[in-house]
Amino acid sequence: MAAPNDADDGEAQAHVHDRGELHVHMNGAIPVSTIREIMADEATSLPAGFDFGRDMTRLAACKSLAEYLTPWQVLRLFPKKRANLDRLAHAVLASLAENAVRFVELRSSVLYLTGLQSCTPAQALERLIESTGSAAQHHGIRRGLILTVTRGDYGASNLATLLQAYEDLGRPKDVVGLDLAGDEEMPYPAELPAMIRKAKDRYGFGITIHAGETGRVENVRAAVDLFLADRIGHGTAAGKDPDLLNLLSAKGVCVEVCPISNRLTGAVPRDEAHPLQEFRRHGVPFVICSDNPAIHQRGLADDQGAAMAEGLSICDMQQQYEVAKRFSFMEGLT
Ligand SMILES: [Zn+2]
Repeated sequence: MAAPNDADDGEAQAHVHDRGELHVHMNGAIPVSTIREIMADEATSLPAGFDFGRDMTRLAACKSLAEYLTPWQVLRLFPKKRANLDRLAHAVLASLAENAVRFVELRSSVLYLTGLQSCTPAQALERLIESTGSAAQHHGIRRGLILTVTRGDYGASNLATLLQAYEDLGRPKDVVGLDLAGDEEMPYPAELPAMIRKAKDRYGFGITIHAGETGRVENVRAAVDLFLADRIGHGTAAGKDPDLLNLLSAKGVCVEVCPISNRLTGAVPRDEAHPLQEFRRHGVPFVICSDNPAIHQRGLADDQGAAMAEGLSICDMQQQYEVAKRFSFMEGLT
């Protein structure tokens, strides 16, 4: 179990000076104090029954993924003002800087901004690029953006909209990859894998797929075989399938391990060890990531501490920076 105040946390923080973050959702990285300020500034009310103190963070293991996702009832209600996108981007990058993150691939579904800010998809993407770019520069962090589409009926049309926005902006180099997220029990449109493969080929995007987070081994296999994933988000279910582990190893597909998140969502049950050691035994590459650090009230340093509590060494953590660089979709990292 990833004990919140395990002494290893401090040890990891003391000895690791540079970090790379490959799996973090921008919305899940906004400090709670910033959320409160923006909600007040925009006079946004909380949904019925939502208790800010109780529901905005997830600090203990949840009974279901749906329970874990409760904070998103609020995270989709802001920012309505352009200036508040700047404000939240600065807060996100500041908290990454506090965790000694030198480069980050930030994920966002982008399109939620079009409704909030009454703008086109291209404007939403442009604003996201500008806000995160300026914040990253201010904090001395290299950042790339990953566009997230969600499983379900709208996955294909949302991807088409996002790709058109990317084309409209002249294929900005800030965008480095595509991500598929959402409820793994939900089917996706039949044309989605081919669309993602085509975008990978045409634009050189890296592909990362949330798969095997809630127990579905076949989703991990589909991520590799159908979506040509370069990386797998979570991938915990693969730990129990030696053939699949061998496939990930043979293809060099990297698993984005989010130790704290995996405990909070129940992806790794309380009474089971995290499959990190299985990944290692089979030669599956992995990177330690934080997923939604502000929702957890933790940071990447804590996730690395949690990985050490699962049996990894300080030496493993010190090597993580180079591993993250190797599997990053960003170019020219030094
Ligand atoms: Zn995630």
